[in-house]
Amino acid sequence: MAQKMLKFVSLDREMPQKRAAPERAHDFGEIYREFAAAKAAEQASRCSQCGVPFCQTHCPLHNNIPDWLKLTAEGRLREAYELSQATNTFPEICGRICPQDRLCEGNCVIEQSGHGTVTIGAVEKYLTDTAWAEGWVTPIAPAVERPESVGIIGAGPAGMAAADRLRRMGLQVTVYDRYDRAGGLMTYGIPGFKLEKDIVMRRNAQLEAAGVKIVHDCNVGETVPFAELRDSHDAVLIATGVYKSRDIGGPGAGLSGIVQAIDYLTASNRKSFGDAVAAFDSGELDASGKRVVVIGGGDTAMDCVRTAVRQGATSVKCLYRRDRTNMPGSMREVANAEEEGVEFVWLTAPKGFTGEGTVTGVRAAKMRLGPPDSTGRQAPEPVPGSDYTEPCDLAIKALGFEPEELVRLWGVEGLEVTRWGTVKANFRTHETSLPGVYAAGDIVRGASLVVWAIRDGREAADAIAGRLNAAAQVAAE
Ligand SMILES: Cc1cc2nc3c(=O)[nH]c(=O)nc-3n(C[C@H](O)[C@H](O)[C@H](O)COP(=O)(O)OP(=O)(O)OC[C@H]3O[C@@H](n4cnc5c(N)ncnc54)[C@H](O)[C@@H]3O)c2cc1C
Ligand code: SF4
Repeated sequence: MAQKMLKFVSLDREMPQKRAAPERAHDFGEIYREFAAAKAAEQASRCSQCGVPFCQTHCPLHNNIPDWLKLTAEGRLREAYELSQATNTFPEICGRICPQDRLCEGNCVIEQSGHGTVTIGAVEKYLTDTAWAEGWVTPIAPAVERPESVGIIGAGPAGMAAADRLRRMGLQVTVYDRYDRAGGLMTYGIPGFKLEKDIVMRRNAQLEAAGVKIVHDCNVGETVPFAELRDSHDAVLIATGVYKSRDIGGPGAGLSGIVQAIDYLTASNRKSFGDAVAAFDSGELDASGKRVVVIGGGDTAMDCVRTAVRQGATSVKCLYRRDRTNMPGSMREVANAEEEGVEFVWLTAPKGFTGEGTVTGVRAAKMRLGPPDSTGRQAPEPVPGSDYTEPCDLAIKALGFEPEELVRLWGVEGLEVTRWGTVKANFRTHETSLPGVYAAGDIVRGASLVVWAIRDGREAADAIAGRLNAAAQVAAE
């Protein structure tokens, strides 16, 4: 494999179909793999090994990027993969969906010198996809079985990264999730065109094969009390993410055809699994043949506009109250959306909706950027007399997420939360105000990224193991 890769190292300027294809049906996959290998090696060899690895510093997992790029360039793919997975539980997932332009690639020295970044994420994805294909991803096989058990609430990246690490140490792990499939937002939030669902399901299956017990359709606080989990496990990790959608009020807010982004994206993802989804099948959550307006400027809004394009919307507009420069979403995603025909309506804020029974438009006001607020960002203010109506048949609200009120919902006393409702946890050990209870991912950070959830989950797992090790040592003395 490695030798083949070096042989075709300059193939990137040659389209794969130009190569001789005597046994076409059989050969195309092989040619594609060689082409992909050549691209990965070519990109990896662009790394200047600058000695100031800002890419590594700005990767939340501090992946040893320069070294695995070097190994890739030398064709030592298995070693490159081993190094990349040593710090990342799901490298093929991060390679696909990290906003690299804000993390590793945005800090690549070559990028900063104006020569275009090394495509680090694409190489990371390629390495792990190759590792799965070649059978280098070995089953999780703990060297010893330990009696202590850990209960994890939430099967998103934080919970699953912790489960992986704890199980490798031989601990008994049970993950409770209110959904019917594990993966959290990787399964039901992020669209399949960014993260193919079989990639996530493969990781879920790997964990289950290793003995991680996943209890589906279990809404902690409802199906089972939180206190019961504390009693039945030696430690508990809260990794429930943030799901309370921010809303828009104003006239017409109750009209049909106005939906929350998470409902819209979940329905679309469920359809891709072949599930029956009544609200999609009735047309309520289907953008096909509709004029769609998405309200919001973050990555969730980008996922909505791009999903609507794929569903066959007649037009897709994105309303955002600031301008392009001040948009929270990834610039790469904005560029992708624009390429796909999405129109961005900058400096525009919703004030309500028009329609009778069903929405026919978003009532909006044009904005301008005023003086900076306390955060240093220019605050948008309405331009007087600029109100107008943006026509639509489907309005999707993508204004971000807040934590659910866990303390009230779970009836748990002594669990401290911040004024934003996120769970207070030590930033290194992830322990909460309740002894033996840890928290990781979005429920601590607020809406964030998969890569940060993985980091938190790994760190929390190490802290939990440390606590259980200490307890076992005391018991043995
Ligand atoms: C639409 C969308 C697109 C995104 N795109 C990207 C992207 O491209 N790249 C990126 O890095 N990040 C992206 N993110 C952010 C990323 O998905 C999250 O930061 C990450 O998933 C957080 O991980 P988590 O494990 O903390 O929570 P989650 O992934 O939200 O998982 C939490 C899990 O807990 C379960 N749960 C909640 N409450 C309970 C309960 N009471 N009982 C049992 N189970 C419960 C939920 O069912 C869920 O499975 C996106 C987010 C959204 C909404
Ligand atoms: S995990 Fe994300 S930030 Fe880190 S190297 Fe991979 S793509 Fe870049």
